[in-house]
Amino acid sequence: MHTRTLLVTACWLGAVSAARGQELVRGFAAVRNPDSAVTQLVGRLDLAQYKATVKGLTQFGDRRQGTDRNRAAIDWIEAQLKSYGCTNTERVRYEYTGRQVRPPATDSAAGAGRGGAANGGQRGRGGLTNPPKYGRGPTGVNMKPEVQPDTALQRINAQPDTPGPREEVFCTKIGTTHPEEMYIVAGHMDGHGYGAAANDDGSGTALVMQLARVLNAPDVQTDRSIRFALWNNEETGLNGAHAYVDQRKDLQGKEAPAGSGKYPEPKWLGMIQHDMMMFDHGMPGADGKVPAEQRREADVNIEFAGTSTFAADAAKLAFFFRTANDKYATDYPAAVGDRMSNTDSDAFKDLVPAISLRENERLAQIGAGWDPQWHQPSDVFSTYSDKDFRLGLNAAQTTLGAIAHLAGAKIKK
Ligand SMILES: [Zn+2]
Repeated sequence: MHTRTLLVTACWLGAVSAARGQELVRGFAAVRNPDSAVTQLVGRLDLAQYKATVKGLTQFGDRRQGTDRNRAAIDWIEAQLKSYGCTNTERVRYEYTGRQVRPPATDSAAGAGRGGAANGGQRGRGGLTNPPKYGRGPTGVNMKPEVQPDTALQRINAQPDTPGPREEVFCTKIGTTHPEEMYIVAGHMDGHGYGAAANDDGSGTALVMQLARVLNAPDVQTDRSIRFALWNNEETGLNGAHAYVDQRKDLQGKEAPAGSGKYPEPKWLGMIQHDMMMFDHGMPGADGKVPAEQRREADVNIEFAGTSTFAADAAKLAFFFRTANDKYATDYPAAVGDRMSNTDSDAFKDLVPAISLRENERLAQIGAGWDPQWHQPSDVFSTYSDKDFRLGLNAAQTTLGAIAHLAGAKIKK
């Protein structure tokens, strides 16, 4: 059943892109094999290591951009990537002079404060013009450091952000047969709200780091390249992702130096963003409160932008990810939606098929207050139970399964 569904998806993608189709066909041979490399690779993910990575990120507080704690987190992430065998780390450098968040008075999208009409905030249901009948809770960005009850965390988060130079880090698994093409697997490492950004977006950052660990193991080879990117300045308006796109989009697929076999910016085949992966407790009740436990119907929400240039290809990519979830995720299913919004994949969506994975739909659900920790002091490690962490792990299994197929991953004997 699973294999058959995957084959159908392969034909779809193959019709769109010969290159993607070919690698999918190769991937399906592995799916049919009960000892497939992909199954083995997904089995190398585990809850303890995922949790430990989220925990490691929370030592830098909310990792607010433009602060020492943000810079220290980037250094730590880079050291971890190197320790996983993804040793060719690089930094993107850019300038950010704007503010962290706009005061609610000057920003109608008070919920997320990163500009644009589609934030969760005053427009009620996350900017949807035809809102579904979903329950609503409060949204907003906490701007008061003193409301953090943990005084140690208050001290970690004390330094204000200042305008100036910014950096973000990525590393790349180089493909053995097609180093000139790549998939981008990403999350954002900055946060705000004077918590510890455990879920937003420690959960997505840890997912990307764990995939880097598995795919850069010494016995793993991929046909195509995979870049693991941890954007900065997502919370201020996707500035880090836009800096990357602006600086590098025209370098795609160019060999440099000529004849070297090296491709500083392999051609983008797809971009997969991960943002808030753990908390799906359902909609708020009449009192605005969200249930304390992960709901049994919790799922991974895969979204593409129905209005983007690459909407048709992005939709196929999204459904391919859902099929990978059917095949490889251990606990939670996935659902596909067409309203990808307000995360770094926006910067890519008109240049390459782009999707985001989340705990909930961004507009209709997160934007309507389904995640009470969003940008709040309560976004700390101890808030989450293993059922929450496990949703993040299932998203990791989904992306690893899909990307291993797409990039042609193999385990060397
Ligand atoms: Zn986020």
